[in-house]
Amino acid sequence: MDSYSFSAISSFKTCPKSFEYKYIKKIQEAFFSIESYMGISVHETLKWAYEQKQKNIELQIDDINNQYKYFWDKGSLSKVKVIKINNSIEDYFNQGLELLTSYFQRVFCSDKSESLYLEHKFEFFLDKHIKYRGVIDRVSKTQDKVIRITDFKTGKISHPLKTLQLPSYALYIFENNLDTKIELSFEDLKEKREIIVPFCREDGKEIRSNLIEEITHIKDTNDFRAQPSILCMWCGYNKICENPHDSVKSTLENKNFFSLEDEYEKCCPKCGEVLVKREGKFGKFIGCKNYPECKYTRKEW
Ligand code: SF4
Repeated sequence: MDSYSFSAISSFKTCPKSFEYKYIKKIQEAFFSIESYMGISVHETLKWAYEQKQKNIELQIDDINNQYKYFWDKGSLSKVKVIKINNSIEDYFNQGLELLTSYFQRVFCSDKSESLYLEHKFEFFLDKHIKYRGVIDRVSKTQDKVIRITDFKTGKISHPLKTLQLPSYALYIFENNLDTKIELSFEDLKEKREIIVPFCREDGKEIRSNLIEEITHIKDTNDFRAQPSILCMWCGYNKICENPHDSVKSTLENKNFFSLEDEYEKCCPKCGEVLVKREGKFGKFIGCKNYPECKYTRKEW
């Protein structure tokens, strides 16, 4: 591989086999999930909306909705698969519409920051040999003259400092801006909140060495073992994979005993591992079997 991205590293961590299919063998995925299709349409709409703002064009909510519909219809729905039972394509279309409507009213209309980059593709060298690339949803300058790196999330999110995504984007901004103050922001469209944290050049040193370590491991390995989990249902290679999760096998064999919704509920929404019953000092709870690597918990099944 010429260059590595946060998506490629995440793909390797989730399942080395799917990484091999996608980035080494360069096999096209058989389908895309409706969740990612909706996410792409939402992102395209937000980019368009901020471009209009840059041109001082005032938008109404109808403009946003029409543009979202335009991007939704323009995509290739024929390759899209709805995985969760009892959900339809229309449900996801409406979900995207709701996310945009709420963001428009909650943030967009009163947003006085200046867009510097939108859906910005970048590439730089982490060291002499490793090239790193990515796409940043939005880079803006706030009224306090702080550079904010924003990633719009249509699904579940974690804290911006708990993944390498935004910190790695900050490395790119620091490459060309020596005295910049940076904030990292996950815009959680679903939960209607924004998580913003400051990030300084010093913090970047550790991020750079973590990235180099992870990428070096991927470059040097020959071990692309399948790592089956409930996420296999969303994997575009699950028909060619030799060892997918049982949920995929039973779906492919058309066995009706399997209910994806039930199974999904019993798997960790953060990492796909199974959930188990636990007891702590505050009583019983449900936790991820992958603890302590994954710290997901909830109260009930
Ligand atoms: S089906 Fe599952 S195990 Fe197979 S490549 Fe995809 S994610 Fe990995």
